[in-house]
Amino acid sequence: MIHPVLATTDSPRNIGVVGGGIGGLTAALCLARAGHNVQVFEQTDESVATGAGIQVSPNAARVLHHLGLQDALMTKGFLPKATQMRSWRSGRVISETTLGDVALERYGAPYYHIHRADLMDMLVSAVSAEPTIRLNVSSRITNFSQDATGVRLVAGEHKHQVDLLIGADGIHSSVRACLWGDQQADFTGNVAWRMLVPVNRLPEGLIAPNATVWWGPGKHFVHYLVKGGDYVNCVCVVEKAEWQAESWVAAGSMSELQADFAGWHDTIQQLLDQTDDGTLFKWGLFDRAPMRTWGIDRVSLLGDACHPTLPFMAQGAAMAIEDAAVLANCFSNGADVVAALRRYEDLRKARTAGVQRGSRRNATVFHLSGLKAWLRDRAASKAGKHSMDRLYRYDPLTVGLDAVSK
Ligand SMILES: Cc1cc2nc3c(=O)[nH]c(=O)nc-3n(C[C@H](O)[C@H](O)[C@H](O)COP(=O)(O)OP(=O)(O)OC[C@H]3O[C@@H](n4cnc5c(N)ncnc54)[C@H](O)[C@@H]3O)c2cc1C
Repeated sequence: MIHPVLATTDSPRNIGVVGGGIGGLTAALCLARAGHNVQVFEQTDESVATGAGIQVSPNAARVLHHLGLQDALMTKGFLPKATQMRSWRSGRVISETTLGDVALERYGAPYYHIHRADLMDMLVSAVSAEPTIRLNVSSRITNFSQDATGVRLVAGEHKHQVDLLIGADGIHSSVRACLWGDQQADFTGNVAWRMLVPVNRLPEGLIAPNATVWWGPGKHFVHYLVKGGDYVNCVCVVEKAEWQAESWVAAGSMSELQADFAGWHDTIQQLLDQTDDGTLFKWGLFDRAPMRTWGIDRVSLLGDACHPTLPFMAQGAAMAIEDAAVLANCFSNGADVVAALRRYEDLRKARTAGVQRGSRRNATVFHLSGLKAWLRDRAASKAGKHSMDRLYRYDPLTVGLDAVSK
């Protein structure tokens, strides 16, 4: 059976996508497979992955599978057996969500851990093999204009005209700023340290094949395996009153990180002990409130450009991947450009806003202390092993297929 998102359209459009990150490249692939011609404009000289690991839940994995990336994901990724919440000092397991084969059976797609560079490599190779996608690197888009016939944009010395434009240019989106004015993202009071630790430096069995989230007062620590299980990806989140670095990313020092996690469980200490000082980076975590309206006429937004999300549900990239499939579905039947974009936004706004709010809520919930933490732990332990069903069962490949309006 030909899956709907891969079906061809009878009226191909020329589509511009600003941003060659996970969202932009997935959108280009979904749109090209639906029969459209796509130009991606990426400001860097190659599509690069920042950060280390990323969790790809079944709701996003099923889109990547339909784009033909299943074998590559199986080869480069790691399939965790569970997500576990543990207590920062004692290590007690507070709650567990079953993944592994159970996730595959329950959701029809696996849960992957993968290095971002590996995922980006897969997307870039798939894009390069697609004759109807042109990836323009070193192409920073700063402005555009539109009328009833199309959208005109300038990248350096080159001018382009497209039927519609999608801003997939991340949390500091220029497309969003052109549409709605330039507003700074909000510092959420959290800083994330990110590092990779080679498994062969650690005692055997120290790191279970799970995504583990250690909850502690004012902080949490996440680790999971990537690169086929050869490295432990760590994200260590600490509440800080302000973020003073000029850039969104800054080098961090081991002594500061060790001080932040002093007194935490021995597993955390061993991970910190095996981290190379020079490889440490810390990120200010920013987000924005959900938007009431994403696009205007022939221009819309996708991924972090319209719903930047704290990583505390591991769903930011997953939402961008879902957007990509739904967008392609909205254009699969020769739909009017403006109507199809509004339909795409209507189908996606509530779900992405829910994930934005849930991730913000987790920033508080993960960091509780005292009686509030005890009550949280008791509620979490009763939540059951399939508490993520609503999130993971969503099938973006089928959403929007009824959107036929010529
Ligand atoms: C610590 C941390 C951990 C995370 N973990 C997870 C996780 O486990 N699972 C998950 O699903 N999500 C996770 N996320 C969120 C995820 O990283 C983002 O939601 C995702 O990368 C957004 O993808 P995007 O394509 O929308 O934007 P981006 O990845 O930001 O890509 C935007 C692209 O646009 C380009 N660009 C920007 N401006 C222009 C311009 N004017 N012209 C041309 N190009 C431009 C940029 O160079 C970039 O390549 C995490 C985030 C953080 C910070």
